[in-house]
Amino acid sequence: MADPRGFITTARQVPERRPISERVNDWKEVYPGTVGRACLPIISEQAGRCMDCGIPFCNNGCPLGNLIPEWNDLVWRDKWQEALERLHATNNFPEFTGRLCPAPCETACVVGISRDPVTIKNVEVSIIDKAWDDLRVIPQQPEWHTSKTVAVIGSGPAGLAAAQQLTRAGHTVVVYERADQVGGLLRYGIPEFKLEKSVLDRRLKQMVLEGTQFKTGVEIGVDILISELQEMYEAIVVATGSTIPRGITVPGVDLKGIHQAMEYLPQANRAALGKDVPNQITAKNKNVVIIGGGDTGADCLGTAIRQGAKSVTQLEIMARPGDERPAHQPWPTYPMTFKVASAHEEGGDRVYAVNTVAFTDDGTGAVSGLDVVEVEFVNGKFLAKEGTERHIPAELVLFAMGFVGPERAGIIDELGLELDDRGNITRNEDYSTNVTGVFACGDAGRGQSLIVWAIAEGRSCARGVDAFLSGTSKLPRSVSPQLRQLML
Ligand SMILES: Cc1cc2nc3c(=O)[nH]c(=O)nc-3n(C[C@H](O)[C@H](O)[C@H](O)COP(=O)(O)OP(=O)(O)OC[C@H]3O[C@@H](n4cnc5c(N)ncnc54)[C@H](O)[C@@H]3O)c2cc1C
Ligand code: SF4
Repeated sequence: MADPRGFITTARQVPERRPISERVNDWKEVYPGTVGRACLPIISEQAGRCMDCGIPFCNNGCPLGNLIPEWNDLVWRDKWQEALERLHATNNFPEFTGRLCPAPCETACVVGISRDPVTIKNVEVSIIDKAWDDLRVIPQQPEWHTSKTVAVIGSGPAGLAAAQQLTRAGHTVVVYERADQVGGLLRYGIPEFKLEKSVLDRRLKQMVLEGTQFKTGVEIGVDILISELQEMYEAIVVATGSTIPRGITVPGVDLKGIHQAMEYLPQANRAALGKDVPNQITAKNKNVVIIGGGDTGADCLGTAIRQGAKSVTQLEIMARPGDERPAHQPWPTYPMTFKVASAHEEGGDRVYAVNTVAFTDDGTGAVSGLDVVEVEFVNGKFLAKEGTERHIPAELVLFAMGFVGPERAGIIDELGLELDDRGNITRNEDYSTNVTGVFACGDAGRGQSLIVWAIAEGRSCARGVDAFLSGTSKLPRSVSPQLRQLML
């Protein structure tokens, strides 16, 4: 156990973000230096708050099954290399989860029953960032090669985790990505101020040195047919994400200036890295309305503020969540509470319990605003409240309402992959689809989710593929696809 009295004598402390006036003028991460370095001065004491519970609920709350009490103890004892080994035992990319995860481990932490929980996420990111700084993250080449071949389609966190595990197991792995660069939503969805792309690139360099091959700008189903891929490889992993965006059908929805978040954010990410983006959708000098109160909406908000928006309003149809755990979401479940992302500190208005009735035309075919109405949720339906109609001016409207599943054309239709009742690819316990030799993981199978789940599924899927190719597998399994109904 770390410090036996740590949780009594030491208060929870998290690192301070850079001043708002400074950070909104650049695209760098919101913490000074990087998150890991910002945490370091306080982190050993914070790790010492861990009680090393007999039943560590943090470990159960984490889809990866991270060995949290073990690395808390090791950090407290200044054994950073041992802590890194325990961290990497369950997570290929802790620098992504340490920055981006909503940390269901922390809402499950036992200290959190009566006090503030252990800052698990900050310990995680400190272990891995310090290891990168100390040049202790080195390629792990396989001891032997099996001569078996695997194609991974999609280079988001699920595809990357599957590819790294399978390469380390000795298979020849090629990752196909239709975008011009590798990373999936880590590259072009999540803004630089949450994850600097250099953090992604250093991990990709490690993967290349281990032997994973990447082919970008190749869309499977278009540039190469999936049937051709089946002839070229002994197994295929479909990790293509959940990319069909949710929309709304109200008058004016086709006006110019109304875009999906994933049209807007990738362009902003490219421009933030100094790339030329012809006809870029930008918030500069515009009133911006974001429809959708979640994390993608917050990413649009922070991006619009950095682009110089005149005003930003984020709309959410649900009522504002409370500040405390609701009674029906007790510890150790992940509760729906009011969250303030770094972008929310930077500006903009958050409006709850409103629905969009129509978009208005400025007379040239471009959007000039939205007519909205307040709503209340009664018997499973949103009912408009009479007399609450109002107009919000907007020259740019962004939809951040989530995604409804993977694209059907190409891979799914051509292979005849079975889908579940939510439109996601059906898998068995081994992540195999109904087509022999074809596996699926991440948002394509699970539906829109989280990075931690994508990594967990990619790792477990790799075990299924390895067993299919080799008859047996020593690769670890993080999570069953059937668990998705029970956990966040
Ligand atoms: C804006 C935004 C912000 C988010 N922020 C967070 C966050 O802060 N924390 C968090 O935990 N989660 C976040 N998420 C969710 C998280 O990013 C996803 O759950 C995760 O990336 C899913 O990983 P994946 O590998 O399954 O798919 P993806 O990351 O979507 O990757 C799929 C890849 O497949 C490629 N592809 C698709 N079809 C083909 C094809 N036919 N041929 C070749 N390539 C193809 C795509 O181009 C893409 O690169 C966010 C999501 C969005 C949209
Ligand atoms: S639940 Fe909290 S206190 Fe208990 S082992 Fe996990 S991090 Fe430590």
